[in-house]
Amino acid sequence: MRIGNLSHAILFSAEEGSGALPQALSLAKYILCSHKEGKNTACGTCDACRKTHNFVHPDFHFVVPVNRSAAVPAGRAPVTDDFLSLWREALLENSLITEQEWYKKIDIENKQGLIGVAEAANLLHKLKYKPFEGGSRVILIWLPERMHPAAANKLLKILEEPSPGTYFLLVSHRPDQLLPTIRSRCMHIQVPPAGQIPPSDEGYMQLEKLLDLCLAGKPAGIIDWAEEMANLGREEQKKFISYALQILRQYYMVFLGVPSLAWVDPARQTKAQRYADRMSDTFFTSVCDRLNTAALRLERNVNSRILFCSLAFDFFLSLQR
Ligand SMILES: [Zn+2]
Repeated sequence: MRIGNLSHAILFSAEEGSGALPQALSLAKYILCSHKEGKNTACGTCDACRKTHNFVHPDFHFVVPVNRSAAVPAGRAPVTDDFLSLWREALLENSLITEQEWYKKIDIENKQGLIGVAEAANLLHKLKYKPFEGGSRVILIWLPERMHPAAANKLLKILEEPSPGTYFLLVSHRPDQLLPTIRSRCMHIQVPPAGQIPPSDEGYMQLEKLLDLCLAGKPAGIIDWAEEMANLGREEQKKFISYALQILRQYYMVFLGVPSLAWVDPARQTKAQRYADRMSDTFFTSVCDRLNTAALRLERNVNSRILFCSLAFDFFLSLQR
């Protein structure tokens, strides 16, 4: 894996019950595996893999929403470590666990879970030390939207000055509720909802055509492409945006060196690699952002000629480095 490409903070977002948490776990396993050279997935047999498999690797930290329960000594704020064995058990049982299932498991009655200031302080304390196993370190934050703003601000300081080899994987069901400052420091991966229709061949063709023109440095062709897109019906245009986001997500996983998370059809693997090799972290962040904005604008019946033209030039500019 070209682990050097990996952003030190990645936000996985998806609807509750979809694959965001399993994907983050699988990436964490990959980061921590000590025999991954030349492989696309964790080896599954090294010492590190054996530990991450049971979620007991000393450099794999968890932050999840909790609250006061009988398990927490009176007089201090509850933190994830108070519930760690229950959390490990929950993950081993079902990595698609929902928020309510978790609260039921930790028996906090009808209270809402929170990620409080004590949690952030605890995490800062842990990060003062070097990784135990001397390699990388992963902090998985499940449902960062439950973070108290004061805790989020503490976390922000670490995200601003990441220490090498430390990776934050955030898994959110409501990324719009995160502090914009947190969101902007993360590479954002939208995990497709379960049952999402995979991109059609036409979706691939439309996107590849644009990418080829951009990579060949042919702005004139880009205007023709935008014109073709503008002539499609609104539903077709929306479909293109949604497919493009899905396809770019696949390319991003290939770019990161984790094609096992990309679910690329084997027939498309070589092509995906070829595109991914020409892309950068900034490209993915900026065009995915633009595509999401474009999707919102299409809902509002904007002039699609202008929309696709500016979208196409955003692609063009983001690829010229
Ligand atoms: Zn391994």
